[in-house]
Amino acid sequence: MFPRLWIGLMGRQFLFILRRSALASSAGLSLLQKGFVDAARSFVRLHDIALPSQCALCGNLSHRVLCTGCDEQYWNQARTRCFICALPMSVFAGPGEDRSRAQSRCKLCITEPPHFDATIALADYRAPLDTLALELKFQARLAGADEFARQLQATFEDSNVAAPDIVAPVPLSRKRLRTRGYNQAWSIGKPLARRLGAHADATLIERTRNTAPQAKLDLDTRRHNVGDAFRVLRDVRGKHVGIVDDVMTSGATLDALARTLKTAGARRVTNFVALRTPQD
Ligand SMILES: [Zn+2]
Ligand SMILES: [Zn+2]
Repeated sequence: MFPRLWIGLMGRQFLFILRRSALASSAGLSLLQKGFVDAARSFVRLHDIALPSQCALCGNLSHRVLCTGCDEQYWNQARTRCFICALPMSVFAGPGEDRSRAQSRCKLCITEPPHFDATIALADYRAPLDTLALELKFQARLAGADEFARQLQATFEDSNVAAPDIVAPVPLSRKRLRTRGYNQAWSIGKPLARRLGAHADATLIERTRNTAPQAKLDLDTRRHNVGDAFRVLRDVRGKHVGIVDDVMTSGATLDALARTLKTAGARRVTNFVALRTPQD
């Protein structure tokens, strides 16, 4: 029993190493390393895309990441969201507003507008969709990223948000990028940029300092925590920038990023997030 368990674990570990390698950037690698990264990419694509036989959520047979049942049940959740921050809303801001056309804002975005102009989110961050985000972040499962990109494009096309000129990810610090080996936000952003016909720029923004993990902080502390954490590395004057992340929690990181981009001259900033935490 032990050798079998061991072989199983080693297999999983090997697949994980391949997944991480497949997501790594090829820049600055030797020819041999590039060859390994290319081989890993081909293998992972074959493993995830050509051979998927199970729905990532319910385990039923499926040729796509999600089976038809899960696709309908979880993605097409009817939710009215704040146009600016994508928080689910039950009450409309203005009386008599046309539901279909209104760019409704939540109370917070009216009283204290953030620096970004709009947010497109797919669904609430909760089970079972959170599994896709967690697997992407910690197990480097590419298929989830492609699925998020596909859904974000569809949601974007249903919205009346203008197309961004540039698409960039929320950057990780160098240290975190080294430990994880890839930026999960960029694994969504790269295919999304292609789908939107926008210029993809993985290194448009740099994280200049390693911020404390946000999860345990209140909103004010979060804002302070990420206040001057970013630097824009290229000319964004007059540009509409799309920022991609897997999960939007308080919005403090995206707000700080948008502020940095606007200070650098960006005309508009739109967030594309896969999942949105409903409340703080
Ligand atoms: Zn399913
Ligand atoms: Zn809002």
